Amino acid sequence: MPVGTYEQYYERLLKMKPNIYLGDEVIDRSDPRLAGGIYVMRQTFDCAHDERYKDVCTATSHLNGETINRFTHIHQTVDDLLKKQEMTRLLSHRVGGCIQRCMGIDALNALSVVTYEMDLDLGTEYNKRFMKYLAWVQENDIVANCAQTDVKGDRLKRPYEQADPDMYMRVVETRPDGIVVRGAKSCNSAAPYVDEIIVTPTRFMGKNDFAYAVSFAIPADWPGVKLACVPGLRHKRSHIDAPIAHVGDMESLTIFDDVFIPNDRVFMNGLGNPECTPYAGFLALMFAHFHRHSYTGCKPATSEVLASQAALVAEYNGIEKEGHVKEKLCHIIGIAELVYAAGVASAYRAEKSPSGTMIPDEILTNAGRKLAGEEIYNEAKIVSDLAGGLIATLPLENTFYAEDNVGELLNKYIMRNPAIPAEDVHRCFRMIQDQIVNEFGGSMIVAGLHGGGSPQMEVIAMMSRYDINELKGIAKYLAGIQADIPIYRRESVTPRKVLEKYRQMHDKR
Ligand SMILES: Cc1cc2nc3c(=O)[nH]c(=O)nc-3n(C[C@H](O)[C@H](O)[C@H](O)COP(=O)(O)OP(=O)(O)OC[C@H]3O[C@@H](n4cnc5c(N)ncnc54)[C@H](O)[C@@H]3O)c2cc1C
Repeated sequence: MPVGTYEQYYERLLKMKPNIYLGDEVIDRSDPRLAGGIYVMRQTFDCAHDERYKDVCTATSHLNGETINRFTHIHQTVDDLLKKQEMTRLLSHRVGGCIQRCMGIDALNALSVVTYEMDLDLGTEYNKRFMKYLAWVQENDIVANCAQTDVKGDRLKRPYEQADPDMYMRVVETRPDGIVVRGAKSCNSAAPYVDEIIVTPTRFMGKNDFAYAVSFAIPADWPGVKLACVPGLRHKRSHIDAPIAHVGDMESLTIFDDVFIPNDRVFMNGLGNPECTPYAGFLALMFAHFHRHSYTGCKPATSEVLASQAALVAEYNGIEKEGHVKEKLCHIIGIAELVYAAGVASAYRAEKSPSGTMIPDEILTNAGRKLAGEEIYNEAKIVSDLAGGLIATLPLENTFYAEDNVGELLNKYIMRNPAIPAEDVHRCFRMIQDQIVNEFGGSMIVAGLHGGGSPQMEVIAMMSRYDINELKGIAKYLAGIQADIPIYRRESVTPRKVLEKYRQMHDKR
C-alpha cells in the first residue's frame, strides 16, 4: 500500500536491531526517548490519510500512477514543488518546527537527477539501481533521512589531504558484490527512527578525492552502522498536556565502521570508477539545493510559530496594542512571507532536468534560505523580549498543582488580565519555554541557522552563479560608460548548469 500508515512504520522500527548509543546504553526503537521524534514522523503518515490534507500530503507516482506519500515523490511539475513547500509548511505548523522527514525526499530527488546524468555520460547503471530502490521506497512508504555532513577534520584541507583519511566517508574496498565504506556523518537527524539512511557526499571532490565520491542507501540498523545519539526531549507534562510537549527528536553522529553495501544500494562509487568524482560535488549541491527549497516551507512555518507565540504572550501580558509590539510581530511575519515567496518564485522558475525531475531556481532558493537563517536568532529574541524573563524561570509544572497552598499562590501570581485564566497563561509560558529555552529548543534554533549548510554556503552558491558583470552593466549605463542596457531578465539558474564547471574544476584540484 503506497500510502503507508503510522502503525506499519512503527512495526518496522520495532523489528530493527539495537544500534543506538546513548551514554553507556545501547537501546532499541521501543525506548521512550525516541517517542518525540516518532510523534513527528507520525504526522507525515496521519496527514496523508486525512481528507483535509490529502491533496498536499500525497502525490501521483511518475513510476506507476499510484497515489503515494509525497515524502517519497520525485517532483515532476511546478505544482509538485509548490505542494511540497505547502506540505512542509502545514506539517511544520503542527509540530512547532522541523518536520524531520524532508531530508529523505530531498536526497531522493537529488539522486534522481545525478544518477541519471552519470548513466548518460559514463554508461553506468546507477540510475537503473536507483529507480528500483525508489519503487521500493514508494511502495512501502519508507522513511529516510540523509547523511551528508562529514565530520570533515581540518576544514581547509581536501579529503585526501587530511591527516586521518577517514575524516570524510570513503570507499575502502570494491568487491564484485558491493563496496566497503568507512567514515562518520555528523548531525544526522532522525537516524534512530528512520527506516533508511541515504548517504551523499558533503562537498565538491577533486581528482585525488575519487575514493570519497560515494553515495548509497542502507537500513539504519545495518551491520557496522553505529548511531551515537543525543535526544532532544521536552519536559514531561502531568497536568497540562499539549501537542508541543509530545514533539522531540534525536540527533546522531553516525559511524560507518567498515560497512558492506551491496551493489543494488550503491549509487556512486569513485574508487571503482574515478570518472564519478565530479558528480560527487553535483550530488552534494543538489541535495543541499532541494533541502534549501524545503527550508522555504519549514522555515516560514517556524517563523509563524514564533510570531504566533509572540502575539499570544503579548496579548496575555496586556501589551499587544503597543507600537513596538506590532513592529516586532510585523518583522517576523514579513520574513516568513518573503522566505515562502522565494520558494514559490523558485518553483515557478524551475527547470526540468534531463531526468524529468523539476529543479527549483538556485538563486531564489538560496536567497530565501539565507534570509531565514540570518533571522532565526532575531525571531527568538523577539519572542523572549515580548514574553519577559518568566519563560526561563517558570517554576516546574507540578508546583502549580502542589497540594499545599503553593500551587494556589502560583496560579494567583501568574495572573495578568483577569479575563485570561491562570492555566492558559501557564500553558502559554510553558509552550514558549519548550519552544526556545529548553535544550531541544536550542538545538532547533541552531538547525535553523546551519541546516542545509552554514550561511556562508548560501553566499557561495549565490555568488558563484549570479552574473555580476550583467549587474555591473546597470551602473556602467548610468555612468555613461556603456551605451545601453538590455531588459534585466535574469535567466533561471539551476544546479544542472554548474555540472560543467565542476568537471573543469575537478581536473585542476
Ligand atoms: C540540528 C541540526 C540538524 C542537522 N541535520 C542534518 C542532517 O540530517 N543531515 C546532514 O547531512 N546534515 C545535517 N546538519 C548539518 C548541517 O548541514 C551542518 O551543520 C552545516 O552544513 C555546517 O557544517 P558543520 O556543522 O560541519 O560546520 P562547519 O562546516 O565546520 O562550519 C563552521 C564554520 O566554519 C566555516 N567554514 C567551514 N569550512 C570552511 C572553509 N573551507 N573555508 C572557510 N570557512 C569554512 C563555516 O562557514 C562556518 O562558519 C544538521 C545541523 C544541525 C545543527
